[in-house]
Amino acid sequence: MNILIENGIVLPMTESENSARKYFIASVGIKGNKIILVSSNKDEISSFKESCGEDLEIIDAKGKIVMPGFINTHTHVAMSILRGYSDDVELMEWLTKHIWPIEGKLTPDDVYVGAELGIAEMLLGGTTSFLDMYHFEHAVAKAAINSGIRAVLSPFFLDGRIELFEDDLARTIDICKTNSRTDYMIAPHAPYTCSDDTMEKGIEIAKRYNSGIHFHLAETRNETPEYISRKGESPTVHLCKMGLFDQHTVAAHGVHLTEEEMDILAEKHVTIAHNPRSNMKLASGFAEVSKLMSHGINVSIGTDGAASNNNLDMWEDMRLTSLLQKGLTLDPLAVPAYTALKMATVGGAKALGMEGKIGIIKEGALADIIIVNQNNIHHFPLQKNIISSLVYSCKSTDVNTTIVDGEILVQDGKLLKTETKEIGAKATERLLEICNR
Ligand SMILES: [Zn+2]
Repeated sequence: MNILIENGIVLPMTESENSARKYFIASVGIKGNKIILVSSNKDEISSFKESCGEDLEIIDAKGKIVMPGFINTHTHVAMSILRGYSDDVELMEWLTKHIWPIEGKLTPDDVYVGAELGIAEMLLGGTTSFLDMYHFEHAVAKAAINSGIRAVLSPFFLDGRIELFEDDLARTIDICKTNSRTDYMIAPHAPYTCSDDTMEKGIEIAKRYNSGIHFHLAETRNETPEYISRKGESPTVHLCKMGLFDQHTVAAHGVHLTEEEMDILAEKHVTIAHNPRSNMKLASGFAEVSKLMSHGINVSIGTDGAASNNNLDMWEDMRLTSLLQKGLTLDPLAVPAYTALKMATVGGAKALGMEGKIGIIKEGALADIIIVNQNNIHHFPLQKNIISSLVYSCKSTDVNTTIVDGEILVQDGKLLKTETKEIGAKATERLLEICNR
């Protein structure tokens, strides 16, 4: 399928903050899964049309914003099945008393239903790629492939679960191999749930598969002092010595880090996936994003799972990333709107090891694109500065079209492959059944 998105306001995310070409009116031509034209030149557009012949879908994007889809760099998408299951408790109590007991009852089928729900929500809200971590990750891989979204799946392990993990990993890899939109990483759950032995095994497996690492780091205040009392050094220092960061690494949260730890993470090119709403809801604190970035760390954005957020709306986490840093540093220039957009797109691509391929609109890049309406009341009066509108006013329901890998998955705000109502009803029924087990 070839697609021509005509006359939209194109925001390629390839430009710097001060560029006059941050956005412009143009048409975007897609052939197969790639962007092959970004132009306002009539002759170029005509010759693109001619080269496509009959096989061309034309989307009129006049007055709409055409931008790269969001990249959600930390979630547990299947936890959408547990949305609202346990609220208003801090992380350790939430995990040990509420989430882990019910997660122990989940089957791969439940994980599939939860993933299907979360992926539908992400696609409708303009997220085109996600980095996931869970158990029965092969079921998430199946749901991702059936939905058409791009996904990096990371089966997780912790003490006592390494064999289950190896089985899940083998199945996940087999499924990922069947589809160009899916890939995998390996996920040691967190420093506080993995002994040195477990970590060593994980690092060995990651090296054997040449896989990236995705893990939770310094989420809550007590984690690091407790770890230091056992090991004599912080998780960042200790894991760096063990060689964890020699692989491509994404560390979720990074709320409580010292400057020394930030230097190590920068030197090792570790991405921090920032999850502001989850960190607030679980009373974990506020990551110092401005400081992390000034140390040279790539900071991307994630929603975390829907049981601690309680939705997978990247617009909300992007907006909060900017607002929180201003409040935290008392500096209105902290994380300006365009920087927040970059974190949710270009920063996410870097986190996934796909820099230059996704998160941008450019000839040769993969066609992961969203089209955003500006006709809802909260956009008016229409401004020249669409960056402000996107970051500070926009809602996920403004997303009109979502294209992944050149395939239209959402059109006019509706999923094309499935019915939203059906997915929702299935999830409601399934949660009741899980609770009655
Ligand atoms: Zn998490």
